[in-house]
Amino acid sequence: MTRAKTGTSDGQAVMQRLYGVPVEGVRCSSPLRSRLMTWAWRLRGRCTGAPAFGRWWFAPEGSKANARARRLCASCPVRQLCLASALLHGEEFGIWGGLGPRERLPLVRRLRDGARLDDLLEDWSAGAA
Ligand code: SF4
Repeated sequence: MTRAKTGTSDGQAVMQRLYGVPVEGVRCSSPLRSRLMTWAWRLRGRCTGAPAFGRWWFAPEGSKANARARRLCASCPVRQLCLASALLHGEEFGIWGGLGPRERLPLVRRLRDGARLDDLLEDWSAGAA
């Protein structure tokens, strides 16, 4: 069990995630899942070692810091893996793969509807997600 029911919001059950644990039920190939569970790709991220790491990526929408984070993400070589990790782990806050929480919502919904993470990423890379 990776989540515990904690309350309701908009008529939906709100689940509190356990950090670092993949969300139950996400369909994902074994190679992608294994890759996401390593640190190697994270060390290639443009945010790694950035002076404001953790601050820009969690700054309020529309702020200068938020825009700076998005600019770095746009040219990040591991952008797709970063987004995949956020989706696999149910990240609720911050910018991952250049997308904020609201922008990730349609992808989260597709995962909940049974889409495979690998396919979702392919669509997203092709601009269809
Ligand atoms: S996409 Fe953005 S948040 Fe993700 S690793 Fe790259 S720079 Fe960091």
